[in-house]
Amino acid sequence: MTDPHASPSVAECLQQAVRQGLARVDAQILLLFALARPLHDRAWLLAHDTDQLTEAQQHNWDQALQRRLQGEPVAYITGRKDFFGLTLNVDARVLDPRPDTEILVEWALELLPVGQPTRVLDLGTGSGAVALALQHQRPAAKVTAVDASADALVVASANAQRLGLPMKCVLSHWMDAVPGPFELIVSNPPYVAEGDPHLAALTHEPLQALTSGVDGLDDIRQIIAQAPSRLAPGGWLLLEHGWDQAAPVQALLRKAGFIQVQSRRDLAGVERCTGGVMPD
Ligand code: GLN
Repeated sequence: MTDPHASPSVAECLQQAVRQGLARVDAQILLLFALARPLHDRAWLLAHDTDQLTEAQQHNWDQALQRRLQGEPVAYITGRKDFFGLTLNVDARVLDPRPDTEILVEWALELLPVGQPTRVLDLGTGSGAVALALQHQRPAAKVTAVDASADALVVASANAQRLGLPMKCVLSHWMDAVPGPFELIVSNPPYVAEGDPHLAALTHEPLQALTSGVDGLDDIRQIIAQAPSRLAPGGWLLLEHGWDQAAPVQALLRKAGFIQVQSRRDLAGVERCTGGVMPD
């Protein structure tokens, strides 16, 4: 007979969470967090499945589980998210970085020569995920990260400092406060349409980082309108966007004078990023 007052084991905690509807991987990460273990060390849980939690660990676990059951992203509960090989500190002041955004980073890296002081601008940097990944991969690049949210910039600059990356942070509504020129401009802007039912699952994240007018394209239109005056000749603009926005974003870019307009697919096969070149 199991003693009902005994603290649960590692295996019992995971079972409890999965029964309540958590994804197994989320349960594992949150349990490692509650146990103050490295979050990538899921093998440790297997090797210690009969270990019983201390009272303090059980308290941490209950709190983490309740927060997740209320829909809070795992990254806000643990305060951390891995993105392109970097561990970022994240919280509710910034969007939780998505793995799909790594596509934007990969495309940008193809365009950034190694060892060159290329001027790069990241618009709506949030936690700094995209800008810091680029600065980390291209140490010689001159990376500027902007956000219209002072709160987000605090998170981004703290991440830059902690990771020892020299990226510059500027408070700016899109390109208003950055004269350029830049050889590359990247952005994962807000692009969800106001009223999109999908927003119901994202209530813990900053709405200003998610929605952009009735069709979700208001901010993308502003960025595309400003970019030609900030890009060096031959410079690229790369934008992440919604699953059904590749065609309108391509049309907006062509109308603004961009050439070589093209889209890239995300991990799910959805056209998720679109970009083009400002001709000489
Ligand atoms: N990709 C996010 C989502 O749909 C939205 C991110 C954004 O608007 N930039 O969950």
